[in-house]
Amino acid sequence: MDYISTRGKVGAIGFIDAVMMGLADDGGLLVPKHIPQVSADTLKQWQQLSYQELALEVFSLYIDGEIPREDLKQLVDDSYGTFRDAEVTPVRSINNHLHILELFHGPTFAFKDVALQFLGNLYSYISRKNNSIIHILGATSGDTGASAIEGVRGKEGIRICILHPHQKVSKVQELQMTTVDDANVLNLSVEGNFDDCQRIIKELFADVEFKHRYHLRAINSINIARILAQTVYYFYAYFQLANQGQAGKVNFSVPTGNFGDIFAGYLAKRMGLPIHKLILATNENNILERFVREGVYQPGEFHSTYSPSMDIQVASNFERYLYYLHGEDAQAISAIMDQYKVDGNIVIPADKLATVQADFVAYGVQGEECLRTISKYYDSNAYLLDPHTACGVAAAEQFTSEDEVTVALSTAHPAKFDEAIRLVNIEQTPPPQIEALFDKPQFQTLVGGSNSEIVEQLVKFY
Ligand SMILES: *Cc1c(COP(=O)(O)O)cnc(C)c1O
Repeated sequence: MDYISTRGKVGAIGFIDAVMMGLADDGGLLVPKHIPQVSADTLKQWQQLSYQELALEVFSLYIDGEIPREDLKQLVDDSYGTFRDAEVTPVRSINNHLHILELFHGPTFAFKDVALQFLGNLYSYISRKNNSIIHILGATSGDTGASAIEGVRGKEGIRICILHPHQKVSKVQELQMTTVDDANVLNLSVEGNFDDCQRIIKELFADVEFKHRYHLRAINSINIARILAQTVYYFYAYFQLANQGQAGKVNFSVPTGNFGDIFAGYLAKRMGLPIHKLILATNENNILERFVREGVYQPGEFHSTYSPSMDIQVASNFERYLYYLHGEDAQAISAIMDQYKVDGNIVIPADKLATVQADFVAYGVQGEECLRTISKYYDSNAYLLDPHTACGVAAAEQFTSEDEVTVALSTAHPAKFDEAIRLVNIEQTPPPQIEALFDKPQFQTLVGGSNSEIVEQLVKFY
């Protein structure tokens, strides 16, 4: 399988090179040259597979023999063997119209483990096979950092540096990252918000000479391997419902920040999975909701919310969708992104907006509604939603018709966001792994938000 850049100046390269490149060297994002198609017959055959077996089949389509099947199977088994649930991503039925896809049974209790356990093992595999130096650099709004660190801590040949916005991640998220004492881990706590952290990373990666000199590798959701890993659970959830005899149209509701997770759903649909609606849920940082409703992509004012992992105004994966929206025309995307730098917004013409609205529906959830949704499902179903999941569930309520069912993706365990849960007077008992964090020493360096300060730290570390 060949990979090319959305801006047309990189490619074709193989899967491993695409994983290693992260952000494409021309500033675009890497996408498969052709989206593999899964026939109805194949879908039928896949319906009974375990999560691991299914992951192996989906990855094989995209890796296309570049990693021998036996090795790939080992990578998959190692990555999902760390999950606490035998099904990896089980589906819980709440009522006739709503099912929760629990994606938080990995080591850090957030859905990012699904992709980052795999990417960590993949990096380690590539490092061993190719003798490559791997220096991971990433920014996090909270969950990615913990998850990425957990994916590679202590692994030989790999170093990881994670930037997080100082005091703008939840306490548990901060502890999960900063209580790791392995020598190959550096936590930088940056004065600023997540968009500042992400901009710094993007700029450092865009400096191709710097990126190559320091062997920088990405773990942000711009990495194509993450998207692929996330397509698997759309298939898996769909099959679980089919196995239960669920015959209605199946929607997915996705709490969205960087557009990574929902793009994986879009990709699964393009591969042939008969997803009905893709419901895009945001919090008050609703750039993507506005895009779907109005056809204007324009970063707005930053809001701190109960769902901090979605407090994002610049969605780093959005360009992948734009590429498909424009019929895979890389030249058009290149021009649009150049113009975006000048104008600060992207305006979609009416015919394209119609396509967007056929691909997605969107709903922005306000803080009060998020909390109300948590209370409601706790009271009526004894099911405790974390605030991100609650946004997805609130959006599912808006768009699920009588003849449809919606799978709401549950992206985090509620214990990670106890600050919000306590506001609705629910007392939860955290899992012991989370409880234990509060007694551990923390390791992090506070830095200002300029690129030069970050570079200084990196040069010392790598
Ligand atoms: C990262 C994250 C999201 C948003 O996912 P994107 O791929 O960035 O859209 C939602 N919820 C939680 C808990 C997250 O950690």
